[in-house]
This record gives sequence, structure tokens and C-alpha cells, in this order.
Amino acid sequence: MAGSEYPARTAVSTMYADPLARLIEELSKMPTVGPKTAQRLAFYILRLPKEDAERLSQAILDAKAQLHYCSVCFQLTDVDPCAICSSPTRTRSIICVVEDPRDVFAMERTREYRGLYHVLHGAISPLDGIGPDDLKIAELLHRVESGDISEIIVATNPRVEGEATAIYLARILKPLGVKVTRIAHGLPVGGDLEYADELTLAKALEGRREM
Ligand SMILES: [Zn+2]
Repeated sequence: MAGSEYPARTAVSTMYADPLARLIEELSKMPTVGPKTAQRLAFYILRLPKEDAERLSQAILDAKAQLHYCSVCFQLTDVDPCAICSSPTRTRSIICVVEDPRDVFAMERTREYRGLYHVLHGAISPLDGIGPDDLKIAELLHRVESGDISEIIVATNPRVEGEATAIYLARILKPLGVKVTRIAHGLPVGGDLEYADELTLAKALEGRREM
């Protein structure tokens, strides 16, 4: 950053005691955290009572150690199958397909959807060298072939990659005799599901159309 009042990383270690420099450096690797915010967070952590700092570091370690992907839907979970896949109150004949685990939380916030999910872990993007085989698409086909699925709602993001993925999914799923729908537009184009407000997302779900 030009004109920043904070020196580049190489100078951090000479300015701060080593443990502090390391803490700032690790924090500054996080998304949206610049050097200034990293320094603010580091000083905040240093002011925490020891127990609070331990809870924070333990929460990070526990999340890393205990969370994995559900073997059915590939959502993040600490039990397998996840709470949604094993819930007796969810509609088991509808699967909503999303790109990212965070999109499941976005859909759940609408409180409108009561079916199951399938997380692809990305979208088809030839420019980035990401093809169908790099996503959890074979696993989705397997679910449709072996289960009593009546509808697949494709809720990939409304950007080029998400649309390409939706078209691809419709092409391979429809021959299996399953209804494939796409959530309605009205979502900001080029945006992400996770940033859409609950009402917009609920409307997009309600207005889904058959592909
Ligand atoms: Zn699951």
C-alpha cells in the first residue's frame, strides 16, 4: 500500500518483538485483513485475559480438527452424515445444489427451504482449469440415481461459472428423469449467494423455473 504508515512485512520483525511480529504476520494473511487491521487485532488479543486467548486458539484448533465434509452432501460438519442429511423433518426428495458450504448457511437463513443440499465445492471454469471432474458432480449423480429424488434446484451463483455449471447439470440430470430448476434471477448478477439478503434469496427460490 503506497504511503502506508506501516512498513512492509520484512520490517515488521525489526519493529516489534518477535512473538508480536509473528502474530501480526499470521493475522495479516487472513482475507480482508490488511497490516493495519492485523496490528489492531494483535493488540486486542494481547489485551485479552489469558483464558479468552486460550479459548480463541482452542476454537481454531477444534474447528480444524473436528470439522470435515459430510459424506452425503459435502457440507462442513462435525458429525457424519450432517445434521441436515440425517434430519427426519427435511424433505428428502428435493436437493438444492450450491457451490460453497457458506451458501448452505445463506439458504438456511431464508427459513424457506426444507429440502436437502449438495455442495459442489466450486463451479465449472475452463479458464481456471476447473472441469466437472474437479467438483462433487459424480457424487450428485450417484445420489439422484440411488435415491427417490424428484427435483434438483440449481442454486449456483449468478455469474458466468455458476451459469455454465447450471447448464451442465441440467444436461446430465434431465435424462435421469428428475426435474431440474434454477433459482430465479433478481439475485445481483456477478454476486454471491452468501451476500444476498434473506428476502432476495427467498424470492429467488420461490421464483425458480424449470431448466
Ligand atoms: Zn450432509
